[in-house]
Amino acid sequence: GCMAKAEPDVVGKINPQASLIGPNSIDRVVEVVNNALRGIRTSMLEDSLAEKPGLPHVRLNPVIEIVEISTGCLLNCSFCQTKLARGNLRSYRPEMIRRQIEAAVNDGCREIWLTSQDNSAYGLDIGTNLAELLSSICRNINGDYLIRVGMMNPLHLKKGLLNKLVKAYDDQHLFKFLHLCVQSGSDDVLRDMRRGYTVSDFYECVKTFREAHPDITLMTDIIVGYPTEDEKDFEASVKLVMNVKPDFVNISRFYPRPGTAAARLKPQPPRVLNERSKILTEICRKVALEKSERWIGWEGPVLIDEIGQHGELVARNIYYRPVVINGGDRSLLGRIVNVEIVEARPYCLIGKAKPATSN
Ligand code: SF4
Repeated sequence: GCMAKAEPDVVGKINPQASLIGPNSIDRVVEVVNNALRGIRTSMLEDSLAEKPGLPHVRLNPVIEIVEISTGCLLNCSFCQTKLARGNLRSYRPEMIRRQIEAAVNDGCREIWLTSQDNSAYGLDIGTNLAELLSSICRNINGDYLIRVGMMNPLHLKKGLLNKLVKAYDDQHLFKFLHLCVQSGSDDVLRDMRRGYTVSDFYECVKTFREAHPDITLMTDIIVGYPTEDEKDFEASVKLVMNVKPDFVNISRFYPRPGTAAARLKPQPPRVLNERSKILTEICRKVALEKSERWIGWEGPVLIDEIGQHGELVARNIYYRPVVINGGDRSLLGRIVNVEIVEARPYCLIGKAKPATSN
């Protein structure tokens, strides 16, 4: 992870014998582990030139391939320690990414998760962009697979990517799922966070996507209790959730990460962080339930991509909505089944399998 590189002194204090490996030197992991097993402490924190899509890896879920398309980013958000560890954007070559996806699809993977610190920045350092990458994957790789695009930032969408990306989402290989981080509903706080966009930029991105894909699932992230967030700013975040009605919100309480600009600001009292987090969590839960309830009665195909803790099947529809199917057969992992949604929970739907099953 990022900690070894961002806070090596802290790791050293906890365990002076700990070997360190940075997030951009993962290709050296075998060497570092072998040294550690022989009792030799190694510190491998410098960035390597290896491209992650070309590296051997272990797939934890046989149905899902995780593809890192770039490392680092183009922003410098005041609260972010990841940037300190990952540095500036380095996009991996489209052909390397396609090669990993093609191999995964040939191995039977049905879901491809594109990940990075900011997927919307992909390619801006190598003369391409995310929309072109998605189109080239869909055009060149045949097979039954669905792509989930990970976290994006409104800034790059607003700077020219938005319409191209919305168009790329037309392809049948794309989950209609948008993870767009807003972080705050207040322009003042966004400015202090150095996010580079305004609340209305976020609204416009969501509106444009929803016009083209009305049922698209929207996930966003919000930080509560940023040091400069006053009561009015917090209310603006609440208002944003009520207006935009995201399907999922990742809420985090502000935490001063060592080495970041925000860590030098006076923090809010823990009581304020707890209260705001509690209030927003409850509002998001209500909004999520309201959104889920709209799916009751929906019938259609879902891809079974996980076996739950109690043996239940977990599936996704084309909108990447999680659908739990009770009493299913584990051998259906990776298969498509038809379901009817019979119940709604805030963060998942309950489905009943219908007779027809296909590959
Ligand atoms: S939070 Fe900001 S600085 Fe950190 S990785 Fe994301 S875009 Fe980059």
